[in-house]
Amino acid sequence: MSNSVIQAKNLNHHYDEIQALSQISCEIKENEMVGVIGPNGSGKSTFLKILAGILNPSSGEVFLKGENLKNYDKRGKAKLISFIPQSFSYDFSFSVLEFIKMGRAPYLPFLGNLSAEDWQAVNSALHKSDCLELNSRKMTQLSGGEKQRVLLAQGFAQEPDLFILDEPVSHLDIGHQIQILTVLKKQIFENKTVVCSFHDLNLASLFSDRILLFSCGKLTASGAPEKVLTSEILQEIYRIPLKVLHDFHSKSPIVLPDLVQSQFEGSKKRP
Ligand code: ADP
Ligand code: MG
Repeated sequence: MSNSVIQAKNLNHHYDEIQALSQISCEIKENEMVGVIGPNGSGKSTFLKILAGILNPSSGEVFLKGENLKNYDKRGKAKLISFIPQSFSYDFSFSVLEFIKMGRAPYLPFLGNLSAEDWQAVNSALHKSDCLELNSRKMTQLSGGEKQRVLLAQGFAQEPDLFILDEPVSHLDIGHQIQILTVLKKQIFENKTVVCSFHDLNLASLFSDRILLFSCGKLTASGAPEKVLTSEILQEIYRIPLKVLHDFHSKSPIVLPDLVQSQFEGSKKRP
């Protein structure tokens, strides 16, 4: 049996009168890659921020390796969890390398320099996220996709046990999407754990060991991709006709809009 890495117990969260999460309980174990999916506004980002300890839930608790997350100090938490947010605005003109080096902050003494081990972590992070050629660029001069890769590099440099990522590949081209998700997937063979939200259901299907499906702030389904990604479940949540095929090699479910059943019938027909 794998060990519990992070556990949510009865999480509720509201922003003023908006109930963003209702009664969320789940447990994520070592060596799992868990995909979090759901429509816009279903609570994915709120859930991930609470798991990462950067947002306090209105009620409920999070346990990291069996210990209440509230009992960890900032450095202790940063050695164990790397959180990569969905969006990020950056106004300081640090270089990419300087920004990635900040991922080592939890390991450094106050105003300390990077050790050989720290540099090794930074170099490995640059490779994993394909950021080598961005090294000397300014953070303010990057495209959305490049910025996303640099954020990931900082997360890798942090060398956490648990990666919590909010749509980390949404702005990337398909080549970088697959490259980054493959690197993340490999982390689980090094006793790491990955919790990652996806917009693209097919990437979630291909890379997740387990999927958590959110809808209207509730955890509506949890299980292997083939259990959660069914046309019955998804059509009810996304409210469009969908069909689910199965990839011949990976056996992963592949979700497609069902244009024949939809109001756009004929839009693909050629004269
Ligand atoms: P998702 O990531 O699935 O799109 P979010 O967790 O961002 O969903 O949002 C869940 C709900 O909470 C939405 O209705 C959203 O409008 C609301 N919400 C998110 N962040 C805030 C905020 N800072 N203030 C007020 N409402 C928010
Ligand atoms: Mg979100």
